[in-house]
Amino acid sequence: TVASAPTVVINANGLSYLDPRLSIRWRVADLISRMSLDDKVGQMTQAERAAVADEPAKVAELRLGSVLSGGGSVPAPNTLAGWVSMVNTLQRAAMSLPLQIPIIYGVDAVHGHGNVHGATVFAHNIGLGATRDPNLVERVYHATAAEVRATGIPWNFAPCVCVSRDERWGRTYESFGEDPALVSRMTTAVAGLQGRSRKQLDDPDRVLATVKHYAGDGDTRYGTGSGDYAIDQGVTVSSRAAFARTNLPPYLRGIRAGAGSVMPSFSSVDFTDDGEGNPVKMHAHRDLLTGTLKGKLGFKGFVISDWEGIHQLPDPTAPAGAAEPTAGQVRVAVNAGVDMFMEPNTAPQFEALLKAEVTAGRISMARIDDAVSRILTSKFEVGLFDQPYASTARTNVVGSAQHRAIGREAVAKSQVLLKNTGSVLPLRPDAKIYVAGRNADNIGNQAGGWTLDWQGRSGDTIPGTTILDGIRQVAPRAQLTFSADASAPITGADVGVVVVGETPYAEGYGDVGGPAWPWGTDAQQETKALTLQPSDKAAIDKVCDAVAKCVVLVVSGRPQILTDQLGKIEALVASWLPGSEGTGVADVLFGKRPFTGRLPMTWPASVDQVPTNAGDKNYQPLYPYGWGLRTGDGRDRLADAAGRRPSAAMRALLTPAHWDGATLRASTSTVRLAEHAFTTTRDATLQDELLAVLHDTAQARMTSGSGATNGAAVIADADRAHDAGRTHQAVTTLTRFIGS
Ligand code: BGC
Repeated sequence: TVASAPTVVINANGLSYLDPRLSIRWRVADLISRMSLDDKVGQMTQAERAAVADEPAKVAELRLGSVLSGGGSVPAPNTLAGWVSMVNTLQRAAMSLPLQIPIIYGVDAVHGHGNVHGATVFAHNIGLGATRDPNLVERVYHATAAEVRATGIPWNFAPCVCVSRDERWGRTYESFGEDPALVSRMTTAVAGLQGRSRKQLDDPDRVLATVKHYAGDGDTRYGTGSGDYAIDQGVTVSSRAAFARTNLPPYLRGIRAGAGSVMPSFSSVDFTDDGEGNPVKMHAHRDLLTGTLKGKLGFKGFVISDWEGIHQLPDPTAPAGAAEPTAGQVRVAVNAGVDMFMEPNTAPQFEALLKAEVTAGRISMARIDDAVSRILTSKFEVGLFDQPYASTARTNVVGSAQHRAIGREAVAKSQVLLKNTGSVLPLRPDAKIYVAGRNADNIGNQAGGWTLDWQGRSGDTIPGTTILDGIRQVAPRAQLTFSADASAPITGADVGVVVVGETPYAEGYGDVGGPAWPWGTDAQQETKALTLQPSDKAAIDKVCDAVAKCVVLVVSGRPQILTDQLGKIEALVASWLPGSEGTGVADVLFGKRPFTGRLPMTWPASVDQVPTNAGDKNYQPLYPYGWGLRTGDGRDRLADAAGRRPSAAMRALLTPAHWDGATLRASTSTVRLAEHAFTTTRDATLQDELLAVLHDTAQARMTSGSGATNGAAVIADADRAHDAGRTHQAVTTLTRFIGS
């Protein structure tokens, strides 16, 4: 019932909820009071572009609430105007109904608007995690939002706030990292997409965010995956407390930031408190969806199911994963708390089942009204009722120079220098460089999955710069020889740069020797064992054996095993999946920017160390969580951060006596002074810089061999404490180790 409506000038057609001067709450209640069950069921349904684009009238016929483009499902032509006109055509169909409820169109813009040719394609989340820079993440996601909205789309199925605990998971690169505190810090992505207040949602450069996949998607046990997946869509086996510690913190932060929607995970949870063996699918998990998410965590937005997610729910009347949903699956999921259903090709069947369940009283009208009001509230907030149609007025922001500059900055800050011996870095601008490796000049490979296609594609796919292009731009005087397979002779090069790693993939993969991938191309197969491919190893061997100094860049969505090659590499860099702005890689190679990135995931020495865990007694990975060498002089940087009037302690610390080259002296008095300087400053930037210096010093100590045994755990612990905001603890952990 609609009580005490404010006095308004009723629109000519009598639909007062269309009056933008009324509060959203009132507008939603008024609209719901006018809706039939068919209207409501339609609002809870989302179909795929491919199922409706040729026949837009279906949008009206089914009274759809939403349409999505799943990975790679794009209008023809895949141009900015093509998107705008497709969205508007579908919208016109929705608006032709008497109630004029607009659809909300959704896409996966998980690293920039990768669906669109010409968009800025940012580094995948794993690289953003390496930057340890939440403000940068906010800017990256804001640029993404601006590009998505400019093509007429107000909703993004991002960010993935998965905490990836096992890199055999094929979605590891969608994760900001393995540590819940780090992932939580990076939920600034939500503010980037939506703005810092939900009032900004109707701005022309903002979109509704989706935090996904709730919850535990990255924490499943290897070997529990569904279908042919070894780990994807598997079972998280955990105590309730450990589950809450590991997987829920990013949701709490994302929801506090106002996240408009949440997508449940395909995976299941098996709480060991009740005795193992009762896995419950997240799409059916009433406790976690309604009790925790909408209750304890206070989530006010709507829950959108994953792609046919409910088809996987156990139902004796249907084989799991059947093409069509069953009544039981619909009932369980709605009653568990799912509000909108991604039913790409089965929207009509879904609607019929939902309607029948409500009519039979197995789903209450109150639950339906709750779901619909959550969906409509978001649509009002996004401004769809006031401005349902998109225009091409802002399409010039797509792939703009300003956004590419943010992309380039993010790439540079995401580079993690794992090993750096000798004096190869920074590369000299006039060096004779032999560039090799199949990822040196392959923009498709450096963009990874969710780029133009769901699985991504190798080759010259999108506009932007490859790493080789970047080297040419940043060092125009360098003498370059490029040979992807290292077959050209190496004549007189000062330095070799070999770019190896993975080729694109999305979801699923994680097997280390099981059955072939159902879609099994060789490129997908090769990601299986996390080890470098033979051709990559051969390229490293060939170049690094022939030149005096050899730099290896690993372009991949997750750590790769390369222990055997390590000895012949002077500088080793984790480049992650940089996207369209390969120039950012060249920036750090040539010293235009320092290396500052840190590992968001433990880098194992061998496949047997996966999954690694800092809690392990024998934590001896090749490189610990948080590892990352910095180039440049720590003392200069600290002096810069301290500014013109350093404290007495800081002044003392900056005297040469306390330094051993670019890092601090490993003496008790030095670390005591450093700790004192830390506690007596309130300047967060200065504290961070001092922490970075201590971190560098601990790493140097570990590399020199003197702290090799427990160094890995110390560095990882300190980084985790820092990410959790316990900076003082991080300092103590490091100083104790350095001074010991
Ligand atoms: C993925 C989701 C994605 C959805 C829509 C699913 O396969 O798990 O992350 O948002 O497809 O493309």
